[in-house]
Amino acid sequence: MSGWLVIAGLGPGDDALVTHDVTEALADATDIVGYIPYVARVAPREGLVLHASDNRVELDRAALALGLAARGRRVVVVSSGDPGVFAMAAAVFEALEAGPGAWRALDIRVLPGITAMLAASARAGAPLGHDFCAINLSDNLKPWALIEKRLRLAAEADFAMAFYNPRSRARPEGFARVLDLLRDCCGPDRWMLFARAVSTPEEELRIVSLADARPDMADMRTMVILGSSRTRRIDRPGSPILYTPRFVAEGA
Ligand code: SAH
Repeated sequence: MSGWLVIAGLGPGDDALVTHDVTEALADATDIVGYIPYVARVAPREGLVLHASDNRVELDRAALALGLAARGRRVVVVSSGDPGVFAMAAAVFEALEAGPGAWRALDIRVLPGITAMLAASARAGAPLGHDFCAINLSDNLKPWALIEKRLRLAAEADFAMAFYNPRSRARPEGFARVLDLLRDCCGPDRWMLFARAVSTPEEELRIVSLADARPDMADMRTMVILGSSRTRRIDRPGSPILYTPRFVAEGA
């Protein structure tokens, strides 16, 4: 029996947003590897081994998955959203590069998923309709000074910005500093979207101006999108629409 390794994205939460390819890989797998809440999204069945681990052990988890595949198991490493966006795919390739040469001959595939920023932006309208960037606000894997530098340069370039990992219990003050920096660079009038637990029963959407944004509007399940200077809000009965026009006039 020859093993394989699939690194799969489970999308933002709703089972209807899991791709057909990922569903098939999960059905063929012998082993599921991932962070506890993501592994919990895979239905248990006879013969399927679930390897759930804590969040801070990505490289161990990646090496475990590669080792299992090398022993002939059919392994799916699960991430939420897309596995290539601040998630397990890069961790698996880091472990592959550092690991035994034999691992390089393994059958490895990455199966995309709907990443949180796209699920969130679709709910609100089209805030990422023009140029944008995505920034992980966690300083677990990079220095805080680099986050601040990227925020300033993205603001200068007038990108819309999608923020992953805005706030954790370990760093409650970090997001307050981000909001202060953004108000300093962009002024108070930008539109901001706080999209929590998108596509789950706990989903909550809030659109506020940068002036009214507060640190406690975000937690670890929230995607934050800051509009560019051109992002507009359309008020209408029910929820408003946030969108960024596709064009910028010459000389603007
Ligand atoms: N690989 C994932 C991102 C992992 S980082 C993806 O592509 O979506 C984890 C961060 O993603 C969270 O802190 C939050 O900012 C965001 N996130 C993940 N799922 C979300 C959801 N359903 N709703 C809102 N934000 C979400």
